Amino acid sequence: MCFTRRPGVWRVLSKISHETSETSQTENWHVVTPLVSEFWCAVSALVIVAVGVHHASPAVITAGVLSFASHSVPYRVVHNLDYVGIAVVSARVIQRWSVWSDHSVWISGLIAVYVGLVDSLRYRPLGHAIGTRSHVLWHLLAALFLDRLERSS
Ligand SMILES: [Zn+2]
Repeated sequence: MCFTRRPGVWRVLSKISHETSETSQTENWHVVTPLVSEFWCAVSALVIVAVGVHHASPAVITAGVLSFASHSVPYRVVHNLDYVGIAVVSARVIQRWSVWSDHSVWISGLIAVYVGLVDSLRYRPLGHAIGTRSHVLWHLLAALFLDRLERSS
């Protein structure tokens, strides 16, 4: 793993939690600010929040906020909240199953899942800027998919 781990302000959490695992790290920590460990991934998670706000979707807002938090605070106690966000948005996808006849929904969902898998299995393990870019792309495509999902009726 080639990502670096600079200390940030969240070191206070080291007494109650372990750092996020190296396999979950998506960029060099605290390069831009000591407040946000994975700055570009956190910022791209805000696009998901914006989609949720635009469609007044609590599920999408929750997923985006928890993703932002997991990329900001590099400790497992917070990182694991990202899984809650994934569960919430997965429930929303199932709830909106009727809109899957809209081609733009399932095509954007298929592309997002493909890029998400390539990110986690191929590029993120490389640990370089390409791992960061592939994760940011995954966030943006997930936001596009969630926009299509919430827009369809
Ligand atoms: Zn992420």
